Amino acid sequence: TAPGPKPPPWLKVRLTQGENYLEIKNMMRSETLHTVCEEALCPNIYECWEARTATFLILGDICTRNCGFCAITTGRPTGLDLLEPKRVAQTTKRMGLKHVVITSVTRDDLPDGGAQIFVGCIEEIRREVPGCGVEVLIPDLMGNWKALERIVEARPDILNHNTESVPRLYPWVRPKARYERTMELLRRVKQQNPDVVTKSGIMVGLGETREEIRQVLEDMRENLVDVLTVGQYLRPDQKHLPVERYYTPDEFREIKVEAEALGFRHVEAGPLVRSSYHAASQVPKEV
Ligand code: SF4
Ligand code: SF4
Repeated sequence: TAPGPKPPPWLKVRLTQGENYLEIKNMMRSETLHTVCEEALCPNIYECWEARTATFLILGDICTRNCGFCAITTGRPTGLDLLEPKRVAQTTKRMGLKHVVITSVTRDDLPDGGAQIFVGCIEEIRREVPGCGVEVLIPDLMGNWKALERIVEARPDILNHNTESVPRLYPWVRPKARYERTMELLRRVKQQNPDVVTKSGIMVGLGETREEIRQVLEDMRENLVDVLTVGQYLRPDQKHLPVERYYTPDEFREIKVEAEALGFRHVEAGPLVRSSYHAASQVPKEV
């Protein structure tokens, strides 16, 4: 496939390794758990870890889906680790995290999509690390709404489910997902418990138009989404979808203004924004 446009200079990150970052980095060398921050070579790792925010990947590292933008291995996952919630909570405590994000591969092989382990993680972290913000970034659970209800009952501070792209591009970007299901999931969370902050995000640069982005933002607001993240799509390697174009920082600012006018409570939009970027600041102060 064509190499696509060259990455612009604003995607370069300044490497500043603060004390908190180095402490966490050393600690993680001795842990069996993996962070998305390290595995995905996330460009925000210095900033996030310095602010004591990290994202754990649970339920294994093999996904039953094969999204066109994602570097995670597709295949048949193996088993279920019932002790994972305990380890996540203990590591959160040792890392001294103030905000933890828990996400997973999509486990279409499990009847509840892995909801039980998400619930376990929320409960264990509440017990082990009181005061730590808990955010779950969940898959669509194939529309198993009973499983979703159990996760919402466990009361995460933030429930995040990414929309990723505009519906026209779903066959390439998220071939096994359905746009309507994603919107319904987000709506159901807020209807079940309005105190849980809902969050969703999209990547731009995959060929969507500004009108299509606008429509997605309107749909999210219609489905009561509180927090929005918008970031630049970056191609993990040649096997994945090419970058159609790089949005400028000014364009991200325009999208942010547009989204704020639609009523999102908090908007992060910028070239390096990822779903968990600045996540701690999105928890309402009274929580
Ligand atoms: Fe980790 Fe998310 Fe921050 Fe990236 S944006 S470093 S994945 S917490
Ligand atoms: Fe990656 Fe999630 Fe898609 Fe699996 S479902 S391929 S983990 S984006």
